Amino acid sequence: MNKIKHSDIATLPTKHGAFQIQAFQENEKEHLAIFTSNIHDLDAPIVRVHSECLTGDALGSLKCDCGEQLNRALDIIAKEGGMVIYHRQEGRNIGLRNKVNAYALQDQGLDTVAANHQLGFKADERTYGIIEYILEQFGITKIKLLTNNPDKIKSLTELEIAEIIPLITEPNPHNQAYLNVKKSKMGHKL
Ligand SMILES: [Zn+2]
Repeated sequence: MNKIKHSDIATLPTKHGAFQIQAFQENEKEHLAIFTSNIHDLDAPIVRVHSECLTGDALGSLKCDCGEQLNRALDIIAKEGGMVIYHRQEGRNIGLRNKVNAYALQDQGLDTVAANHQLGFKADERTYGIIEYILEQFGITKIKLLTNNPDKIKSLTELEIAEIIPLITEPNPHNQAYLNVKKSKMGHKL
């Protein structure tokens, strides 16, 4: 892994609760750890790895459940203690421009996996090296992972996963088909 630059730690009050934040720069990508001040006191903190989704996180898109998952994760972690890692791998790491192209293909009737394939990508291009690096900086070796995604569990090989906590969101008419594809083609537990 290339040299990672760290920011200082700052406080961030949010509508979900009080957090501390630290940014990690990996080449041109900047990731963010959002954590509770008791993180070092927890035997197995709850950890959510949230992949950036500009349309879902910032715009309230109903095409996916990312924004709702992020909000729920922040609510749970503010209360129980732990960390959200905001992983800047937009569009399952195909980037924003390619994601919008995939959305355009979906407008023509392709599903999320087929659209990625048509653009020459795998269904999921994410990597998790930076996640293990960030957790290592905090001395975290054992976590309760908040996820519906079995691949995420397999990718975090250096960690002891004490528990998997599913993150259930309510489907809406726009994302029901997308969630069904995640479940049937990508093995998500929903
Ligand atoms: Zn999304």
